[in-house]
Amino acid sequence: MKKVTFFQSIQFKIIIILTLLLLLAIQVIGAYFAQQLEASLKENFTADVEERLQVLTANLEEAFMKERPEEGEGPTLQQDIQSVLTLYGSDIYSDLQVIDTQFRVVGSKGDPELIGKRITGESGVNVAIRYGQDTSKVLQDNVTHDREYVRVVPIEDVDDSPLGAIYIEASMEEVYSQLQRINQIFLNGTGLAVAVSIILGILVARTITKPITEMRKQAMIISTGDFSQKVNVYGTDEIGQLAITFNDMNDKLHMATLTTEEERRKLSSVLSNMSDGVIATDEEGSITLMNEPAADLIGKNFEEIKGHNLVEVLQLEDKIVDLKGFQDAGSIIIDASDEEQFFLIKANFSIVQDERENFTGLITVLSDVTEQEKVERERREFVSNVSHELRTPLTTMRSYLEALTDGAWEDKEIAPRFLDVTQNETERMIRLVNDLLQLSKMDHKEQSLYKERVNITSFFHHIIDRFEMNQLEKIGIVRELPKENVFMWLDKDKITQVIDNIISNAIKYSPEGGVITFKAEKEKHRLTVSISDQGLGIAREKLDKIFDRFYRVDKARSRELGGTGLGLAISKEIIEAHNGKIWATSKEGEGTTINFTLPLTNRKRGGK
Ligand code: ADP
Repeated sequence: MKKVTFFQSIQFKIIIILTLLLLLAIQVIGAYFAQQLEASLKENFTADVEERLQVLTANLEEAFMKERPEEGEGPTLQQDIQSVLTLYGSDIYSDLQVIDTQFRVVGSKGDPELIGKRITGESGVNVAIRYGQDTSKVLQDNVTHDREYVRVVPIEDVDDSPLGAIYIEASMEEVYSQLQRINQIFLNGTGLAVAVSIILGILVARTITKPITEMRKQAMIISTGDFSQKVNVYGTDEIGQLAITFNDMNDKLHMATLTTEEERRKLSSVLSNMSDGVIATDEEGSITLMNEPAADLIGKNFEEIKGHNLVEVLQLEDKIVDLKGFQDAGSIIIDASDEEQFFLIKANFSIVQDERENFTGLITVLSDVTEQEKVERERREFVSNVSHELRTPLTTMRSYLEALTDGAWEDKEIAPRFLDVTQNETERMIRLVNDLLQLSKMDHKEQSLYKERVNITSFFHHIIDRFEMNQLEKIGIVRELPKENVFMWLDKDKITQVIDNIISNAIKYSPEGGVITFKAEKEKHRLTVSISDQGLGIAREKLDKIFDRFYRVDKARSRELGGTGLGLAISKEIIEAHNGKIWATSKEGEGTTINFTLPLTNRKRGGK
């Protein structure tokens, strides 16, 4: 935050205002006071001069009008005047002259050389002698620059006829220097008052600005997220009220921040614990937030795509033109598959609006729908497979039955063969339907295992014996079974079904005179069974697929041999229900081995 300099501060402004107000007041009072004082001092001075002048005039009139004897007897007029001047000529006069009607100086105080000289050019004296009028004026001395009070008073006899005039000069400097001294005192007082007002201004301003400065500091602390401190409340005035309101606001802001923070934490915990991916954008469609699952789904991290456009990131350019498109789209399936794997993402869009229903952002929820879609595809494929598998024997039967109806029933040679075919197809269809039913039950977990304690050594011998008895001698079965008795818990019928299926496949796909090896091995926690043949084998990439429903490496051959394409799928379900594993290994042209394991657990833990 910008720092407030002293000259910008309220403190400075208050000091300036106070000082200016004080100066203005002093100035007004001072001007009035100085004027009054000057007038009063001048008045006192002139009154003093006039008073003395009156006495002097009276005495001089007396001296002028005095009867004088002949010359040489008694004092002359000049002597009388001189003695009056000595007696009444006050020190306050800097110049005092008495002039007769011939404008001759007849008496002078201070400068006796002037006596007898004529005065010309003095207008006041002229006016006094000629017209009997007094004059007064203030003159400034050219040399000393002193101000002089000049007064000319006529001396008249009883008939008011002029006898002469008195000319006086009295220095007014005393009055002015007194005024100056007083002004100086005034000036000193002003200086003192200004100094005191500055100090007072500082103190007053402090009381106002201190709480404000504190609040400013507090506001700065709050802006850093620290709500722990409070502003001091110094009183109940407006600033005190402001401080109380400020503290109140601080508390509310703290509460609001805590709530927001809690909401943020909740949201972030929801986002990070969600299994679905979430991407948020602003009103422009630029990405502002993304959680981990979303990053995993789209294979990009947040830093990489932050601020990028959602349409570009999800490569939806051909599906969505503008942001409104998201609103209409609702949800979109994005195919993110590559050469290696099939991968589908479902994106659900929801619009975020403000209270005025303006578009402010978009929330996109991403979920991996690959499995869902796979299951759906498998389901569709399964239905089509079933229909196909049922249609084939039915079409065959129909054509044979048609041929029989058309007269072949009468042919003793063909009729039994045709009937034989239809019977085989019917049996295959029954097998197919039975297999399908069994699979469906297993899918719905309707078929439970009936486990019993079985000595598998004799159990396997028994199955192989059965095969050898029923089977043609051309294929031999080699037994590699444990010598000792091995007991384990299993569903005898189901495992028999598995082994029957594997061995019949081995026989089916074995060449004439081929050897089948039945191997069972007891390991620490499991029993491994492998049944190998010397048939044509299975290509490596098809090895896993043979356990899929209806999958056949060679469809025509399998059908010809009466297979349904479900045998290994059922076997896989049974083995997995026993918590075992089943897999195939093969070398093309050399033979195939179907392996399965069964855990050697006790009854309670084993199976479903
Ligand atoms: P099917 O009824 O067709 O035998 P299965 O589920 O038992 O159905 O077997 C699936 C496919 O696996 C067969 O169609 C066959 O192509 C292949 N297969 C199974 N066992 C062998 C084997 N021992 N040798 C070669 N191919 C086999």
